[in-house]
Amino acid sequence: MESERDHLTRLAKGEIASFDVLFVRYYPLVLHFIMGFVKNEEDARDLSQDLFLKLWLHREKMPEVVIEDAPLFAWRGFHLDLARHMFTKAYLKKTIDRLAGYKINKLHLHLNDDQGWRLESAAYPLLTETGGWRTFDKYDSICIRKSADDPTMALDKRFLRDDTLYGGYYTKEDMREIIAHAATYGMEVIPEIDMPGHMSAAIRAYPWLSCSGAAGWGEEFSHPLCTAKPEVRAFAKKMLEEVAELFPSDYLHIGADEVETTIWEECPLCRATMAEQQMSGARDLQTHFVEEMHDYLKSIGKKTVVWDDAAEEEGVSNEMYVTFWRDWKYENAAPIVERGHPMIFATWSHFYLSARPSFDRWKALYQFDITVAYPGMTDDRLMGYQACVWTEEIPGEAKLEEHIFPAIQAFSERVWSSDRDWDDFMGRMPLHYLIMDRESINYSKNR
Ligand SMILES: [Zn+2]
Repeated sequence: MESERDHLTRLAKGEIASFDVLFVRYYPLVLHFIMGFVKNEEDARDLSQDLFLKLWLHREKMPEVVIEDAPLFAWRGFHLDLARHMFTKAYLKKTIDRLAGYKINKLHLHLNDDQGWRLESAAYPLLTETGGWRTFDKYDSICIRKSADDPTMALDKRFLRDDTLYGGYYTKEDMREIIAHAATYGMEVIPEIDMPGHMSAAIRAYPWLSCSGAAGWGEEFSHPLCTAKPEVRAFAKKMLEEVAELFPSDYLHIGADEVETTIWEECPLCRATMAEQQMSGARDLQTHFVEEMHDYLKSIGKKTVVWDDAAEEEGVSNEMYVTFWRDWKYENAAPIVERGHPMIFATWSHFYLSARPSFDRWKALYQFDITVAYPGMTDDRLMGYQACVWTEEIPGEAKLEEHIFPAIQAFSERVWSSDRDWDDFMGRMPLHYLIMDRESINYSKNR
C-alpha cells in the first residue's frame, strides 16, 4: 500500500485529484494552516510544489465537515527556563505561535534562578542590572566546548557583553507584549519566581537577602534567602506584588524546590526563629515561608503554584497547586492529590524535554500511562500535564527547537486526545515534517 508521504507527494503534484483520504485524516490541521498561515493565493503559490497550493486552489471544492473535538485536559502546559539562557522577545512570540498550533494553553516561564534574574523590577533594579548577568559558568563552558563540533551549542551572541559576561532581561513592556501575544491564542502566561532557594542571582544583587551576606553553594543547592529576616520576607512579597500586577494569570508559581536548609541550621537568626517558634527543624522554616507567601498571594487574588518539594508534608495548605516533577519520589504523588492539592504532572523522565532527544523518549512520552508507574493515580486526578525545557545545555534557538520538536507533537496528543495510537500517530507525522520544514524548524532527526 502507498505510504502517506507518497500519497501527499502525488497529491501535491496533481497526480491525484481526490481529497478524500486527506480530509478524513488531516482536515483539522490542514484547515488550521490554510486559515492561519496562507493568507492569499500569492502566499500559496510561493509554496509551489507542496500540497498547500493544491488545497488553496481547490478550496471551493472542500467537503463540508463537522468536527467534534474537545481536549482531554484543561492544563496543557509548556515550561521554559529563561534563567540559564535567554531568548529574544521576537523568538518567544514565534515559539508561542508554534505551541499554540499544538494547542498548548499554559506557558510557564521560569524567570529567575541561580544563573540569572530575567524580569525587570521597579522596586529592586539591581536584580536585573547585577543579577541579570553572569561570568561564564560550568554549563556555559560545556556549551562553548561542544560548539566546536555542533554550531547549535554556541552561546547566542546577542546576550554576550564584552565576550565574558552573559545575560539580559525582559522589561515589563516586553513581558506585556509577550502576554498579549499569547492571549490572542487563549494561552495564559504563568510567571515563576523561584524562592526561597535558587536565589543566587538576587543575592549577588542584594547580599543582605542571604543568611551570611554571601551567595554560594551548600551541600547540594545554592544558599537560600534568609527567611528569618523580616526585610527578606518583605522583599519577597514586594517582588510578588510587582509580578502579580504584571501578569493577568490567576496563577503565580513560587518554585520552592531544592532548598539548601543546612545553611539555615548554621544561621544564628534562623536558629533563633526555629527555637522561638518551636520548629522541629530547618525544614519548617521552608514550610512557614511558603505558607506566608501563599497567604499573601491569596490576599491579592492569586493562586499559588509550587514544585512538589514544597508539598511533601501533611499540613501544607491544599489550596496550593503542585507541579509534580520528581518521579524518583513517585510514591508522593497520590498522597499529595489525596490531601486535596490540584496537580499538574511534569515528571522528569517523561515530560522534561531537556534530555537528549531520542526515538525511545519520544515514544515513551506519547505512550505515558500514569496508572502503570504511579500507584493510585489516574488521569482523572490531574489538572493536566506540562512539558518542561530546562536550558543549561540549550543555549540558542536551533538547539531549543531540537528539544521541542517533534516531542511537542507527541505531548500535544497526550494532553488532548483520549484515543491515542502510536502507529496512527506515526502515520500522521509526515504532514508535520512538511509543516516543520516549511517553517524552518530545526526539529530533532534523532528518531
Ligand atoms: Zn538565616
